[in-house]
Amino acid sequence: MTTDERTRLQLAADLPGAAARGEIVAYYQPLVGIAGGAVVGAEALARWFHPRLGLIAPDVFIPLAEAVGNIVEIGDFMLDTACDFAAMCCRSGSDVDIAVNVSAIQLRDESYAARVLETAARHGLDPRHLTIEVTESEVVHNIVDVGERFAVLRAAGVTVSIDDFGTGESSIEQLLALQASELKIDRSLVKDRTASSKTLLAAVISFAHDKGLRVVAEGIETSTELAAVSALGVDRVQGFLTGKPMPAEEFLQFITASRST
Ligand code: C2E
Ligand code: MG
Ligand code: MG
Repeated sequence: MTTDERTRLQLAADLPGAAARGEIVAYYQPLVGIAGGAVVGAEALARWFHPRLGLIAPDVFIPLAEAVGNIVEIGDFMLDTACDFAAMCCRSGSDVDIAVNVSAIQLRDESYAARVLETAARHGLDPRHLTIEVTESEVVHNIVDVGERFAVLRAAGVTVSIDDFGTGESSIEQLLALQASELKIDRSLVKDRTASSKTLLAAVISFAHDKGLRVVAEGIETSTELAAVSALGVDRVQGFLTGKPMPAEEFLQFITASRST
């Protein structure tokens, strides 16, 4: 067995109960509005502080959590924590939109949408401040169920977002059948500056806008990329250029500073 395999097995064995033990922490990455350049909210991103192995990235532990069966525990924890944080920001005068990632496994639960709305209500968060993001490649296998959950969420004012758009095999029409209200364009589409990619990016943004979707460009690292997506009319950007994922206290300072300038 390789060291990597041994580490994965160790992580899989340690994952159950990690959220309850306080090892899972929500970081917040700023979402910035193109109009005015203000911080309009944040995406909540999970981090696992393993007691012996240190910081583990979600790309490593989320697939493990899906495999060992505790993605619901982690997903519920992230939703609860993010709603609590966003409600606190709104109460203290900094209105924020908060985006939370959901795994396709969580969406299998018929009561998923009701539980999201119950969580927002428990924290006093207006559902219009909440976005649920699901990765493009995960939803296409289960469009009927996901569409039903999304319809309930949308009717209550929650934004439903297709994450990592441009990485999967789905057509934009398939995704439109889900009645999503936001499209998050993956960094791979943004960073590739060949003529054909630029044409594709422009077409995707214009099509999404025609269908009434809000468009977010993610993974913006340079001012050239920011200028390019701004010229194409995206509504919001997210990326290392405008703010890395950070702990809650740091995000509070970040948003306070951004709004006082
Ligand atoms: P995502 O939802 O697409 O989140 C954006 C990822 O891109 C984050 O990685 C973020 O740190 C990274 N990123 C942001 N700006 C830049 C940039 O300018 N350049 C580059 N190269 N990367 C950038 P992170 O935090 O490692 O999360 C990875 C993925 O793990 C997320 O991708 C999401 O799919 C998943 N994930 C994170 N938290 C959760 C969670 O609570 N539940 C579920 N189901 N999945 C989660
Ligand atoms: Mg996301
Ligand atoms: Mg993404």
